[in-house]
Amino acid sequence: MSIEPPLTVGLISLGCAKNLVDTQIMSGVLLTEGLTLAHDANHADIVLINTCAFIEAAREEASAIIDEMSAHKAGGGCRAVIVTGCLPQRYRGALAARFPQVDAWLGVDELESIAHVAREAAARPPDAPPVVLVSSQPKALFAPRIPQLAFSHPASAYLKIAEGCNHACAFCAIPGIRGRFRSRPVDALVAEARALLKDGRRELNLVAQDSTGYGRDRRGAPRLAGLLRALDALPGRFWIRILYGYPAAVGDDLLAAMAGARHVLPYLDIPIQHSHPDILRAMRRADTVRVLPGLVPRLRAALPGVVLRTTCLVGFPGETEAHFEHLAAFVAQTRFDHLGVFAFSPEAGTPARELPDPVPAEVAAARRDRLMRVQQGVVEQNNRARIGTTTEALLLHPDPTRRGGWLARADWQAPDVDGETRLEGLPASAKTGDLVKIRIVGAEGYDFTGVPARRPRGAIGSGA
Ligand code: SF4
Repeated sequence: MSIEPPLTVGLISLGCAKNLVDTQIMSGVLLTEGLTLAHDANHADIVLINTCAFIEAAREEASAIIDEMSAHKAGGGCRAVIVTGCLPQRYRGALAARFPQVDAWLGVDELESIAHVAREAAARPPDAPPVVLVSSQPKALFAPRIPQLAFSHPASAYLKIAEGCNHACAFCAIPGIRGRFRSRPVDALVAEARALLKDGRRELNLVAQDSTGYGRDRRGAPRLAGLLRALDALPGRFWIRILYGYPAAVGDDLLAAMAGARHVLPYLDIPIQHSHPDILRAMRRADTVRVLPGLVPRLRAALPGVVLRTTCLVGFPGETEAHFEHLAAFVAQTRFDHLGVFAFSPEAGTPARELPDPVPAEVAAARRDRLMRVQQGVVEQNNRARIGTTTEALLLHPDPTRRGGWLARADWQAPDVDGETRLEGLPASAKTGDLVKIRIVGAEGYDFTGVPARRPRGAIGSGA
């Protein structure tokens, strides 16, 4: 009697860290339900593509990969292609005709169905219609199953604390794709964080569409400040970093919890999108108008040395040169540590698409480049100020370009977006996941170089 080997699934995760968490959750479902994961999607029985559909560029990237994997399947390279995530959630079965090789389309509520669907897809006759499982109103919240494949660095993890969004920013399709805001219980998050720390993670990055909204959907439940206190009480040496906040929701309770915590980094990611009241109102972010003038001084007073990341959207309908100059002056004056700039993309189904006075795409792109040049000047000054200072860094892996060197993240650098720090002079006992005190000795662009703050006699930072 021959025994069929388990089906192998190759995972391709597109888009943001929140989508990455969903891919990890699906990996846990597949592993705990008897399938195996392939190291390379090109050598798997089933290719699973978890997609992003936030803006046109993301959809183009997803379409190109679906096309590539469809050709791979047509050439006999795999048995099935499954597409999950935001793209099917947004377009449901409407993409089936465009991508006839795709065997299954799963929306964002279907992560737990993936093993069952994978088996079904692998056995699907060529002429059968594809499986389409997409809920009309996403409402699921998932806890990861263990084991799962971690796509983040082994010393770092993303902790998704909530799903969906109740804001109604005029340019944003996410509430329609991801559904109403709902947060995971504190107990479940503490248990997950405990398991991640036990697994060697030294950095927990809290993510959600709206992290600062945590707990608002649960009457009487702790808010983000309460969650931070609960996570901060866990033993060991590790970092907690908050990503994806909402400017008007950064309350004094949150700042007090951050200031009093041992593990929470003084780092806040608060996308402001714009500074001019007219544009903020048109964006349906009027609450930001009220808080923005005093926001950054308040944050810096409450959390001395706080590292601020923000995102701006330029070329929104109606944005004049004067509006843009207001934003450029605000960015120059406020001196954010990290800035991302996007040019407006008119998204189907969003109110902004219907607004008058569109800004030509080339003008929006030029404004994006101009704002980034403003920020470059800020970054150069900030970098100079950092040289000679001491801070803490997380060791990631040996530097492949320098014998004895290490690649690390300083505590002001979030994964993937804020650059990295090259270290030299660490002892031979240094290892991935160590948290070490360093002194910054150089900077270039968004990257830094550093050395140990004090030459240690033995191993530095055990990370335990
Ligand atoms: S807060 Fe963020 S996710 Fe929510 S609608 Fe606004 S831009 Fe979109």
